[in-house]
Amino acid sequence: MSGLTHSPAAERVAALLSDVLPGGRIGSVVAGAVMTGTGAGLDLVNPADGGLLASYRDAGPDVVEAAMAAARDAQRAWWGLSAAARGRALWAVGALVRRHAEALAELETLAAGKPIRDTRGEVAKVAEMFEYYAGWCDKLHGAVIPVPTSHLNYTRHEPHGTVVQITPWNAPLFTAGWQIAPALCAGNAVVLKPSELTPLTSVALGALCDRAEGLPRGLVSVLAGAGPTTGAAAVAHPDTRLVVFVGSAEAGARIAAAAARNIVPSVLELGGKSANIVFADADLGRALTGAQAAIFGGAGQSCVAGSRLLVHRAIHAEFVARLSHAAGRIPVGMPTDPATQIGPINNRRQLDKITGMVQAATGAGATLAAGGGCPAALRDTGGFYFSPTILDGVAPDAAIARDEVFGPVLAVLPFDDEAEAVALANATPYGLAGAVWTGEAGRGHRVAAALRAGTVWVNGYKTINVASPFGGFGRSGFGRSSGYEALMAYTQTKSVWVETAAEPAVAFGYVG
Ligand code: NAD
Repeated sequence: MSGLTHSPAAERVAALLSDVLPGGRIGSVVAGAVMTGTGAGLDLVNPADGGLLASYRDAGPDVVEAAMAAARDAQRAWWGLSAAARGRALWAVGALVRRHAEALAELETLAAGKPIRDTRGEVAKVAEMFEYYAGWCDKLHGAVIPVPTSHLNYTRHEPHGTVVQITPWNAPLFTAGWQIAPALCAGNAVVLKPSELTPLTSVALGALCDRAEGLPRGLVSVLAGAGPTTGAAAVAHPDTRLVVFVGSAEAGARIAAAAARNIVPSVLELGGKSANIVFADADLGRALTGAQAAIFGGAGQSCVAGSRLLVHRAIHAEFVARLSHAAGRIPVGMPTDPATQIGPINNRRQLDKITGMVQAATGAGATLAAGGGCPAALRDTGGFYFSPTILDGVAPDAAIARDEVFGPVLAVLPFDDEAEAVALANATPYGLAGAVWTGEAGRGHRVAAALRAGTVWVNGYKTINVASPFGGFGRSGFGRSSGYEALMAYTQTKSVWVETAAEPAVAFGYVG
């Protein structure tokens, strides 16, 4: 292993794990037990100090096989229950999440480096996800189609069977709940592989699912392990019926191709380079706080981050000056401090990527209006901190205007009119989200319709809810998560034809 120094937070992580995981040791949760992997050793590093939090072993093929076998049996039992019983079991998962909310939030903060004020909110949202889909279980019914023949024709929404879910490191527990709850509601079993960098809260959620009354053991397995080994084995497994991937476009393309080789469908929730458009007639005070939340929330490690600020030329200089002033005052610091709004970057590789992209942007002519590196007060912590950073004077075809940074880095581009704002916003292969700030209601709707993106906010940014569909256009992916639309992604529709005529017309064949 790595020879890293021990993080002072390691003991606290171990204590929290013993609260939420059987035996308290890190492994994969399969059918109510924690299985130790057989693959390579993996280290968990504390983003707040760079020290070692814990080590574990990549799950490997035997654990994948055990999870898939458990899923097969549990899914049959689950789909055999009444819809109301499935709803009660999902509600029980939500109640367990609420009971362990503080431990889950603290664990996420220590292991992923997310500010505690954010993780508390995210844990509450995970409970809501199970509660929302608990309500859907006995309302997910098909339709009667008025066909022109003498048949009764109706549809049934049936589960795929075993769903493999692969998730990234930026919001591990939130993403796990976001995908597990609708998958179970629709009658599936889940085998989830979280990022190898942040498996702890997902594994803990798997253990809570196993404890929930009415949920068959093994219906949810969580594999602690790496992507190209454990994740790839789960995707390629012959029992896998649907793959849902949340992460980068590069890995998503590989995973969708691997699924397609077995004629298995996929849903891809990928990255973005979302435009936040501010017109001169906007409420500038609100647009200023909105622009900060858009790019600096979660230290910019958010798929919907508003990483391109398109601002009308008439207010460009004033808006950038006020935003830069504000950026220098957002509290950056230890994620465990309730006052912290921006914690560390999740991992050293991502920190190096952000640093490199900012250096390349200034080298290519962008002006540094705020930030640009580690805040002076945090330099001796060993943590992966990066100040809220604003790059002005960015050319529309510069790499920093096109490529996802996934960090607290904003590229500013001025525009002259509505048509140019829309053209700039759409000049990216991504299409995850976008926003428009304006005092004119009609313009808000016009621009919302013109943006090529799966989510658009008018005079706001970043609000999402489990009841509303979410997903990308273009390079940001395909398929939808959350709301009713997630249930359509997690089911396949069967059409049933029942002859009702006393003497059906025979159109073909020999009548003896
Ligand atoms: P990543 O693509 O590197 O990894 C995501 C997951 O895929 C991890 O669990 C990883 O182990 C796994 N993986 C990698 N290669 C694999 C393979 N060959 N087979 C199976 N699994 C494999 O992404 P990341 O760096 O963890 O996360 C950052 C990215 O996620 C950003 O691009 C971000 O925009 C995106 N993201 C998208 C959404 C969304 O909802 N659209 C949400 C959060 C993050």
